[in-house]
Amino acid sequence: MNNIITAKFGGTSLADASQIKKVAAIITANPERKYVVASAPGKRFSDDIKITDMLYKCHAQFTNNENYSETLGKIRERYAGIISELGIEFDIDAEISELEKNLAHKDYTASRGEYINSKIIAKFLNWPFFDAADGIFFTSSGVLDEAKTFSTLGEKLKALSCAVIPGFYGALPDGSIKTFSRGGSDVTGSIVARSVNADLYENWTDVSGMLSADPRIVKNPRVIDFITYTELRELSYMGASVLHEDAVFPVRKAGIPINIRNTNRPDDNGTMITASLPKNLSRKAVTGIAGRKGFSSIRVEKSMMNGETGFGAKLLYIFSDNGLPFEHCPTGIDTISVVVNSDLFDEKRDKILREIKNELDPDFVMIEKNLSAIAVVGEGMVSVKGIAAKIFSALANAGINIRMIDQGSDELNIIIGVDEKDYELAINSLYKAMIEA
Ligand code: ADP
Ligand code: ASP
Ligand code: MG
Repeated sequence: MNNIITAKFGGTSLADASQIKKVAAIITANPERKYVVASAPGKRFSDDIKITDMLYKCHAQFTNNENYSETLGKIRERYAGIISELGIEFDIDAEISELEKNLAHKDYTASRGEYINSKIIAKFLNWPFFDAADGIFFTSSGVLDEAKTFSTLGEKLKALSCAVIPGFYGALPDGSIKTFSRGGSDVTGSIVARSVNADLYENWTDVSGMLSADPRIVKNPRVIDFITYTELRELSYMGASVLHEDAVFPVRKAGIPINIRNTNRPDDNGTMITASLPKNLSRKAVTGIAGRKGFSSIRVEKSMMNGETGFGAKLLYIFSDNGLPFEHCPTGIDTISVVVNSDLFDEKRDKILREIKNELDPDFVMIEKNLSAIAVVGEGMVSVKGIAAKIFSALANAGINIRMIDQGSDELNIIIGVDEKDYELAINSLYKAMIEA
């Protein structure tokens, strides 16, 4: 035990001064919470605009030669309100004018949401501020330089007894700012936890943990008390957006547990994420359900395909050669389908179809659009018979047509493709049958 907790607070947890005061109370309640990773102020109410979104807008207006002063003014006002309500001395105008000088740089602009907010929080706590650009490093190709980051960040942070670190960004080799993808402060939190060798990575948000289904689709879904890194990764990759899908990797390698907690209900235990589940834990075969819309399936048929060596490899190569990652690839005897993100596919559609025709000479190619993919995930599914039958009858009883089935080779998940119009009903039917029942 190192008696170190890394605590990351998300946008809604830091959306205004009263939320920041709740966060300060959480931090000071446990002296082990030494390294705090902060997001930019998020939404205060459902129609509110996140600071990060305003920053992207400001950059876009600047590059399009439009008037950005109203947007920049709104950003200034959000921070000025927080500063005055917290009763701290903070020169927000100096920060805003520095930002204004650099609006041409997209990632720099976006990163100022967390940068300024973290400086404000550090001031309020009377803690040191540590700039993520001084400890999180990307290679020139934009990939996280893990070795350099973990050692440098670890050393620099341990030299401070505590620190507030802005989430969402780091630096490229030339020192310029690069952000992670949206929601990336979760990744920063994981990197910090790993670098300082924390005993625990707490991820504080606005729900009491990982829920067994998306709360915007299912009413009051159950909280998952314990979940493995692998299950969580599957669920977050498939759309359970509470934690960034890449946030698992840095801590998983070091065996640091993640605890998802609710800033507005700090006494709730939240969800504990570990490599293996506590012994004697009894739970259902299915841990959670998640999904995403926006897929297309390209089905290629050719009789005697199975006898043609390398047919599947050639097909997948066409997609990868066009820079298109495939999500699923169910196969039949004479058919093979490739499921891909529709937006990415639409950009390259004609070229890909031409290459499939020329290189594979198929009998038939069919494109199905408006597909959604739903993952039913659980480590217990391997050992329980009849799970697939239960899933199919739940969907059949709801009158939903299944358009794709794909079972992961680890038997940890079953992915079902349904039409986008059936998506919400399918999630609710599966939740009732597999989790609530
Ligand atoms: P933060 O700003 O704290 O990073 P996010 O908005 O990124 O928070 O993530 C929390 C939100 O994720 C919740 O408010 C909830 O609406 C949404 N969400 C989607 N699926 C799930 C799920 N399975 N469990 C919990 N939250 C989920
Ligand atoms: N502020 C960034 C975003 O809105 C990062 C984050 O909140 O994690 O995407
Ligand atoms: Mg988030």
